[in-house]
Amino acid sequence: MSDRACPVLAVVVPCYNEEDVLPETIRRIRQQLDRLMQAKKIDENSFMLLVDDGSGDNTWPIIAAYHERDAAVRGIKLTRNVGHQHALLSGLMYAKQAADCVISIDADLQDDVEAFGEFIDRFQEGCDIVYGVRADRKEDTWFKKGTALAFYRLMRKMGTPVIYNHADYRLMSARALEQLASYRESNLFLRGLIPQLGLRSSVVYYHRYARFAGESKYPLRKMLSFAWNGITSLSVAPIRLVLSLGLALFGFSIAASAYALVSHGRGAAVPGWTSIMLTCSLLGGIQLISLGVVGEYVGKVYKETKRRPPYFIETTADEQTPRAAVRAYPALEDDRRSAELLQ
Ligand code: UDP
Ligand code: MG
Repeated sequence: MSDRACPVLAVVVPCYNEEDVLPETIRRIRQQLDRLMQAKKIDENSFMLLVDDGSGDNTWPIIAAYHERDAAVRGIKLTRNVGHQHALLSGLMYAKQAADCVISIDADLQDDVEAFGEFIDRFQEGCDIVYGVRADRKEDTWFKKGTALAFYRLMRKMGTPVIYNHADYRLMSARALEQLASYRESNLFLRGLIPQLGLRSSVVYYHRYARFAGESKYPLRKMLSFAWNGITSLSVAPIRLVLSLGLALFGFSIAASAYALVSHGRGAAVPGWTSIMLTCSLLGGIQLISLGVVGEYVGKVYKETKRRPPYFIETTADEQTPRAAVRAYPALEDDRRSAELLQ
């Protein structure tokens, strides 16, 4: 493998309850693959790999049905919902066995598939990683824009290199994937890990659209937890902050004690119940916060030492399609129709 001139490309798409958008996504990616194959930029064996991340809707039957018709549409189905990052990782690791390079893209068509060609150009020029970077964020709400900007700034301040305005739309060579495979962490934040591989990289700018159909699977709560995970799984800055805070407080308490001693010597000490109470509660609060932050890391160490496998593949639509899954598709449709009739 490792053919740079005409590589086998795999397009990996994590999908969680994406039945509304999936047929269109498959159509557009297929079109791009065809175009690149005709231009002899990618090998005829290039394919897309759709990862069903434990969806509760028709996502898997749709994937299996498309695979039945077209061998370039492949799929894997995870046994349960493991979240975007682990679903993506499972797809990358599965696809790397059969591809020279892999492009990862979301299922909702927010990222422009027209950029595939440029990704391949950069790969052919010798890059192992190509980051897709949004040229603008016109389609996002001001809230999403603001929170995203604050997140990138915070990450940079914390000393974690993340590419500005880059999500998980990127190309990685088989070599980059091989290196990524040696990371064994369960708190996965791919965007922060991949720059750490240290391989030759480049950037492609693209236009980011609104979601084609369906709803965002990243509500504010998930976004915050994603950001927090990004910071605590890659940076020790919060621990350093606690340490500096502790040192500053220590200095302050020495000055305060000196002052109290001098006051006492002068006989000017008043019954200082209020001040003692205030100091106690302030210190108590700070200690608790510090303990919380340290606890966060201890929790992560605990999880990492278990070395839990992050995902299991339940079944695949690769070469031999599980016929039962294909047959299940119309059956599911029937179920829905009968449910409607019963209402
Ligand atoms: N996704 C997934 N598992 C999840 C949540 C999301 O595989 O638990 C997929 C989803 O199908 C989509 C991608 O991750 O392809 C990004 O999700 P979404 O578009 O909802 O996020 P947003 O673009 O709003 O940040
Ligand atoms: Mg999206």
